[in-house]
Amino acid sequence: MTKVDYVLNQPQTRPHHCHWPGCNRQVPPAMWGCRVHWFKLPKTIRDKIWKTFRPGQEKDWTPSAAYVEAAKEAQDWIAAHTCPMPIKRIPSKSIVNFVRTGKELEIGRITLRKLKDGSIWMENAAGEGMQVAVEKLELPLWRFFDENF
Ligand SMILES: [Zn+2]
Repeated sequence: MTKVDYVLNQPQTRPHHCHWPGCNRQVPPAMWGCRVHWFKLPKTIRDKIWKTFRPGQEKDWTPSAAYVEAAKEAQDWIAAHTCPMPIKRIPSKSIVNFVRTGKELEIGRITLRKLKDGSIWMENAAGEGMQVAVEKLELPLWRFFDENF
């Protein structure tokens, strides 16, 4: 049996959720995460997890050091490339003077503005916002700012 066949045919033998932070979707223990989140990882990291996964490690709890390293790399990548939503930390009034130039980008109910120091101000419809480093944005947003500002 190939590794692909093995992984795709593993049942949900115990509660085990997707490893993407905040995702509670149940996936078989032989899988890293749900389909949506798995494919959000860069291919290089997916390849590392895939290569180092040994069928059965999820049953005898003995992943290799290489697998643990790959899984950690995935978590580090997620932390560095996702935006800490929902935004509730800083009242927007506190940075009014900070925003002097720049266009705005509206995505759904979230408004993004590039600040002078290059970071991004995100604000929701209720006027709550927070300042984030551009690297914390989801990649497509990050690219938008690179290309348009
Ligand atoms: Zn997920």
